[in-house]
Amino acid sequence: MEADSKPKKSGARLCCVCNQNRAALKRPKTLEQICRECFYAVFEEEIHQVILENQLFKPGERIAIGASGGKDSTVLAYVLSELNRRHNYGLDLFLLSVDEGITGYRDDSLETVKRNELQYGLPLKIVSYKDLYGWTMDEIVKMIGLKNNCTFCGVFRRQALDRGAALLKVDKVATGHNADDIAETVLLNILRGDIASFNSEFINIRFSLRLMLGCQNLNKFSTYAYFKKLDYFSTECIYSPNAYRGFAREFIKDLERIRPRAILDIIKSGEDFRISTTTKMPEQGTCERCGYISSQKWCKACVLLEGLNRGLPKLGIGRNQGLNSDGKKDRKRDSRTPSIESKQCGSLEF
Ligand code: SF4
Repeated sequence: MEADSKPKKSGARLCCVCNQNRAALKRPKTLEQICRECFYAVFEEEIHQVILENQLFKPGERIAIGASGGKDSTVLAYVLSELNRRHNYGLDLFLLSVDEGITGYRDDSLETVKRNELQYGLPLKIVSYKDLYGWTMDEIVKMIGLKNNCTFCGVFRRQALDRGAALLKVDKVATGHNADDIAETVLLNILRGDIASFNSEFINIRFSLRLMLGCQNLNKFSTYAYFKKLDYFSTECIYSPNAYRGFAREFIKDLERIRPRAILDIIKSGEDFRISTTTKMPEQGTCERCGYISSQKWCKACVLLEGLNRGLPKLGIGRNQGLNSDGKKDRKRDSRTPSIESKQCGSLEF
């Protein structure tokens, strides 16, 4: 029996929900005192309600859970598999991991995902950069150094996740991110002038799933994972300078200290962002080389890969640079491809 399920001792605060157990934490939303068991129940029920209200799933659907071994994706895998059983969603759930080929980081975190596969009884598919692109991140960093490594990694990860989803023949991909991550991404998109990422037609089910789960649960993923003693990996990537996102994170934390609602407000701004109908947006097509979605002849991953393979990795770097199918520089920007790095960096990027 846990400490907080013992009868109240003199002076100990009682849970505001069950009024029996000792309170273990404050609910972020209401600041009420709550015990662990009631926290689990409230957290899981909130996610269940979000799923129902937004009709996120249909019976019989195949759902891949982006699994990095980090806290958020582990909580998502655990809770979704629990809710699927408890409420008979009728979903076929899978774990989908991307192996970037980062020795001392991803190899270790994938061991966690392999344990999760057994613990939660969810089949695991791992797609690797080496298999998809012929390069590991270790090899890429050896060539390019630590300056633009996250740009390569973010672009490759997005495509790897989609390719893994296609291999698994899933209907949707669920990724676990918390509200902080989403607010950072909204802010980064603004700071970079990456308006294409705000265009609603580019917001796919992955985004809405993580948005809804993340926003509704604020940053309770950490508390849930910690109290539940879930098996997750918490080391940062060894190549994670990623300074730009770090500044955005610090800025948001400062804002939150002054105004606690700042994170939710930033996310709402991102949701409500609309692009003028007179703004020319890139037209969606497919990459001539690999068939992946792209607004240019070549998708961003193929451009970056061409640079690597030709020993000219900077060819694909930068806001306005790319390569045409004849291998020449193309000054038009592929704004369809989001230049979003992963957070640092346990999780899968959208
Ligand atoms: Fe890739 Fe994230 Fe590491 Fe950057 S920090 S290299 S995006 S895993």
